[in-house]
Amino acid sequence: MSKPQIALLYTGGTIGMTEDPTSKRLVPLDFDHIHQQIPELGKIEADISFHQLWDPIDSSDIQPKHWKALVEKISELYYEVDGFVVLHGTDTMAYTASALSFMLQNLSKPVILTGSQLPIGVLRTDGKENIISAIEIASAQRNGKPVVPEVCIYFEYKLLRGNRATKLSTEHFDAFKSPNYPELAEAGVDIQYKYHYIDSGRFGKLNCLKEVSTRVGQIRLFPGFDAELISALLKNNLYDALIVASYGTGNIGKEAPIAKALEQWCASGKILINATQCVYGSTYMDKYESSANLREIGAIESYDMTFEACVTKAMISLGNSGSLSEAKQQFCGNWAGEQK
Ligand code: ASP
Repeated sequence: MSKPQIALLYTGGTIGMTEDPTSKRLVPLDFDHIHQQIPELGKIEADISFHQLWDPIDSSDIQPKHWKALVEKISELYYEVDGFVVLHGTDTMAYTASALSFMLQNLSKPVILTGSQLPIGVLRTDGKENIISAIEIASAQRNGKPVVPEVCIYFEYKLLRGNRATKLSTEHFDAFKSPNYPELAEAGVDIQYKYHYIDSGRFGKLNCLKEVSTRVGQIRLFPGFDAELISALLKNNLYDALIVASYGTGNIGKEAPIAKALEQWCASGKILINATQCVYGSTYMDKYESSANLREIGAIESYDMTFEACVTKAMISLGNSGSLSEAKQQFCGNWAGEQK
C-alpha cells in the first residue's frame, strides 16, 4: 500500500523560533531549522512535502492575506495529497483555524494546525510530539477515507475542532480548549478518535471563499461603558458589522444609553452581533428583560461560538456577499459545526 501524502505548511510561530543572542528575544527561523531538529520526520509512515509560504512570522503578524495564501496553497495541492499540517504560532492559531474552516467550503481532507509553547530546539519542547501526532492524524484513513476531514487544532494530546478552539493559557502546554464542543480525539498510547463528534466530510468540489472584509469591529461592555463610542463608530462609518461582547446570556441592560445607540446602529442597516463575554455556554437572547429588545431591533446572536469563530465568520460573510442583508443571512447559517 502506498504511503499517505502529507503537505506540511510552515508559517512561523514559537515552534520554529530561537533566542537572538543579542536581544534575547525569540525570533523565527527557516524551515530547515525545524527539519534538522526533528530527524524523526524521516521515520514517519507518510510522504511529507514541505512548503514555507512566506518568511516565517510571529502569528501576531498574521493577516487576512496570509489566510488567503494558505487557502490558495491548500487548493493548489488539494488533489495531490491526503492531508495538510499547518505549523503556526499559537497566539492567533484559533483565528486562522476558524477562518480556514469557513473559507474552505466542501472540505473533505484533514487540515491540522499545530505549533508549540517551547521552540523545537529546546530540550523540553512540546513541538516534536505535536508535529508528529498532527501528521499521524492528517494521515489517518478509515475505509479508504480520511478520519478527520475537518480544520482542527492538535495540541498537547488533544484534537479540537478548529473553529471551536480558543487559546486560554500562555503558560501551560495544554494551551487550547474547546469550551463548547467535545474533543475530537485524544492521543495516548493510541490516538482515540471520537467518531460521533467528527464531521464525516462534505461532498462536491472544494470551493474556496477568498474575500475577507476587515469592516468588522468589536466592543466589550463593562459597567460604566460610554455609549458614545458606538455612536462615533456609526457616524464615522468605520464598520459594517459590530460584535458586542455582552454580559452572560447576551444582556446589555435596558436603561443604559447603550440600548439606544445599538438601536440606531441596526436602524442604519448595519449588522449587530450579540456575543457573550462568557467562554463557556451560549447566548440566550430574550431570557432576561435586559436583552429583550435586541432581537426586535435586528441583532443576531452568536450562541456558543468562540470569539475567533464569530469575528472570522463575520469577516468572510461580509467579504463574499453582495449586500449587508445577504451577509447577515450568511452569518446566521451553521457552516462548519462552529455553533450549536
Ligand atoms: N508569539 C508566538 C506566536 O504566536 C507564540 C507561539 O507560537 O506560541 O507566533
